[in-house]
Amino acid sequence: MYIVMIAPECAPAAKVGGLADVVFGLSRELEIRGNDVEIILPMYDCMRYDHIYGLQETYRDLWVPYYDRKVHCSVYFGFVHGRKCFFINDHSDKNFFNRGVFYGDHDDPERFAFFCRAALEFMLMSNKHPDVIHCHDWQTGLVPVLLFDVYKYLGMTHPRVCYTLHNLKHQGVVGEHILRQAGLNDTGYYYHHDRMRDNFNAFAVNLMKGGIVYSNFITTVSPNYAGEIKYSDESFGLGHTVHVHSNKFGGVLNGIDYDFWNPEIDGYIPYHYSADNPDGKYGNKDVLRDRLLLRKDYKPIIAYIGRLDHQKGVHLIRHAIFYALNNNCQFILLGSSPDPEINSHFWNLKHELNDNPDCHLELGYNEELSHLIYAGSDMIVIPSLFEPCGLTQMIAMRYGTVPVVRDTGGLHDTVFDAEYTYKSYHERNGYVFTNFDYAGIESALHRAIGMWYSYPQHFRELMTNAMRYDYSWNHPGEHYLNIYEYIREK
Ligand code: ADP
Repeated sequence: MYIVMIAPECAPAAKVGGLADVVFGLSRELEIRGNDVEIILPMYDCMRYDHIYGLQETYRDLWVPYYDRKVHCSVYFGFVHGRKCFFINDHSDKNFFNRGVFYGDHDDPERFAFFCRAALEFMLMSNKHPDVIHCHDWQTGLVPVLLFDVYKYLGMTHPRVCYTLHNLKHQGVVGEHILRQAGLNDTGYYYHHDRMRDNFNAFAVNLMKGGIVYSNFITTVSPNYAGEIKYSDESFGLGHTVHVHSNKFGGVLNGIDYDFWNPEIDGYIPYHYSADNPDGKYGNKDVLRDRLLLRKDYKPIIAYIGRLDHQKGVHLIRHAIFYALNNNCQFILLGSSPDPEINSHFWNLKHELNDNPDCHLELGYNEELSHLIYAGSDMIVIPSLFEPCGLTQMIAMRYGTVPVVRDTGGLHDTVFDAEYTYKSYHERNGYVFTNFDYAGIESALHRAIGMWYSYPQHFRELMTNAMRYDYSWNHPGEHYLNIYEYIREK
């Protein structure tokens, strides 16, 4: 099958969060299974160009419709660790992708609406007729709309679109001018409640809603999050739309790349280990302590790796740091936040704890260090308010680091409590709490720390149980291929 992914991120060249890992990992799995996969991305100035091989201009003069004129673009091609990627480079005075950041500019909806139009224009001009186009998140929500209402009539016949919702918190809600920008000039038609009008703001269009309405199939990143979207307020207002389209909606659990995240061969960690022979983990623990100047005591290391965002439960992460330090543990945090308030809060905390030999806060994005922390820590906390899938718990488990998580979204599908679960003993792999408050996280940390000190053998079993789970792309890859086949036949 020939599949084109249109996405705002692809790891490791353009990565902000889990979406990037998914685009890379799923594409790789589909290729391993004999499919032809291409990825179309914006050509950001802030990408990790050292992860793109053989980058060269492949299409020189691409003229992309923009309001009633055309914008000059070119398209580059390069391999991102073996994946075939096309990068849209715009030469307009808007500099859509040369902003020094991936997201966070005032005109993000305009930037990505332009990207959608450019991606389709490129496919049309270069004669690409994939069996399936797979789009991701609000940034690409306009792709199916443009495909079915514009490009189908220009020669892209029988298009099929699978659209994946990675996080419903961000939907691309924007004024109706976006429709005219993209060339959808019959604005009244698109502004209809059944199409793109935002469910809350009667004066705005919702790009993600467009993606949901127009795609042939919609997935989200875990079965439990799929249920939460439909039956709780996790949908941020899109629940009704998903309900209306629930006959083409399902949850597919994300995977992680088992070659990239592999403690047996990981080039970023000095000691290699496996579930059958996990002792190398303790060597990494020593190296991690040396690197971050933590003292070497008989204590567990608890870690947090991830964005510092309201979604991730920042006040509970902060609480976990002090709870750990007061209960004979060490704490390592690796995180960054685009929110200046949260950022400065954690910088202050870092200064406050600077001299503490049991704690290290690393504020910033550091892929290499993340591997060593996954490998050297004993536990990882993930107290999210909501978590569509969550990759950190799966990566942590792969490295034998026991997750302590809140029972939400994909965390519910992947972490099974050491004591309170219907799972048999060898399937238990972590600690789970329900309430999004201090007492909630304390209850789980208390049990986890108690187990580490009092029953080290049991704790080690949890570790190896976690390592034996298969959260690779194997099953999800098969699942997505079934979905592609299904929509092709319709
Ligand atoms: P989200 O997509 O909500 O950010 P996920 O758990 O799905 O969260 O994915 C997070 C991914 O980003 C993981 O691969 C994690 O290791 C990585 N990551 C997050 N923050 C950092 C950081 N500061 N440094 C290195 N890697 C990070």
